[in-house]
Amino acid sequence: QVADDCPPDVEALGRSTWTLLHTIAANYPKSPSYREQSDLKTFMGVFSRLYPCWVCAEDFQRYMEKEQIRVDSRNAFGTWLCEAHNAVNTKLGKPVFDCSKWEERWRTGWKDGRCD
Ligand code: FAD
Repeated sequence: QVADDCPPDVEALGRSTWTLLHTIAANYPKSPSYREQSDLKTFMGVFSRLYPCWVCAEDFQRYMEKEQIRVDSRNAFGTWLCEAHNAVNTKLGKPVFDCSKWEERWRTGWKDGRCD
C-alpha cells in the first residue's frame, strides 16, 4: 500500500488511469460528431505512446494494432475499452469483468443502488 502523497507505483497509476479512461467513455456522446470521433482516436493513440509504464504501453499499442479502436458511439467505445482492460486483467491473472455492466460501473451506478 503506497500513500496517496507518494509517487504512484504501476498499480496506483493503473487504477487512476482506468478511472479516467472509463469515465471518458461514460461521458462520450451516444452519437459523436466526426470531430469527437477523431479526437478520441488521436487521444488514445497518443496515450498509448506516452503512458508512463513502458511495458504496459508497448503491450497496449500492440493490442490497439490487433483490435481496432471503436469510436462510433458511447457503447462501442465503452465496450472496446472494457475488452482492452480485460486483456490486461487476463495478462495479470485478475478476474475478467462482465462488459455488459460497464455503464453500471462507470456511468449510471449499479442497479442494486449501491452507489446511491
Ligand atoms: P484495475 O485493473 O486498476 O481496475 C480498476 C477498477 O476497474 C476495478 O476495481 C473494477 O471495478 C473496474 N474494472 C476491472 N476490469 C474492468 C473492465 N474490463 N472494464 C471496466 N471496468 C473494469 N499493470 C501491470 O502490472 N502490467 C501491465 O502490463 C499493465 N498494463 C496496463 C495498461 C494500461 C493501458 C493501464 C491503464 C494499466 C495497466 N496496468 C498494468 C495496471 C493494471 O491494469 C491495474 O490498474 C493495476 O494492477 C491495479 O489493479 P486493480 O486490481 O486495482 O484494478
